[in-house]
Amino acid sequence: MARRHVIDPRVRTEVIETYGNTCWLGLPGCTQVGAEDDHIVPYSHGGRDTVANIRRACKHCNSSRQDRVLYGYGARLHVVLVPPCCESDALEYIEARRSQDDPVVCASRLAESMGVERRSSAVGKAVGMAWSGAYRQFATCGAPIDVWLVRVMPSSRRHPRMLDEWLALDYDVRVVDPGFAEAFGRAANIEERKLVRQWYGLHLSQALIDARQQARRARLAALGLRAVADESPSRPVW
Ligand SMILES: [Zn+2]
Repeated sequence: MARRHVIDPRVRTEVIETYGNTCWLGLPGCTQVGAEDDHIVPYSHGGRDTVANIRRACKHCNSSRQDRVLYGYGARLHVVLVPPCCESDALEYIEARRSQDDPVVCASRLAESMGVERRSSAVGKAVGMAWSGAYRQFATCGAPIDVWLVRVMPSSRRHPRMLDEWLALDYDVRVVDPGFAEAFGRAANIEERKLVRQWYGLHLSQALIDARQQARRARLAALGLRAVADESPSRPVW
């Protein structure tokens, strides 16, 4: 968020000397140039003006982050990506891993709770908004909870490059893919078959995500925001 008070210039100087002046976020549209002081634990969550809690960010990233927390500095977000018509596979994957009280945000479940069949209904937009609203809330949640998000398309009108945002914020991203033949077979009509083809056209794979995640985690480790670029990150001690 844009800062409304000025931090101690000595803190800023030490942040720049220690971690550089390149934008730490690297969200889609990043200009790289550190122009503002960004709080890792957001100011609104009680994050303080300390060297440990400040990194330099470009104007664009600082405002587009909107107080979303870095994985583990508050909520831990797990995103499970699945092809269209395969949300049940994602829910199965999550059930095997989640703790009893972990929230799960899944469009088909939201549709179910509204008493509608999302695929054939004009309320699809309401379901999308419910998903986004829940995401926004959990993404800025300072409480130490695990949240599971099921998502088909890693983009929306508002966030055309969602996957890039998730990787920048170090979410745990998993691809659960039963395979094209299976997904295509489950599609009930032309529209759904089109969506399945579109999804596979994105070439999402765990290997690709792991490689990108590894690079991002090395960068976060260099910024002192992550112990090492390990597979299953624990919660940072703050
Ligand atoms: Zn940036």
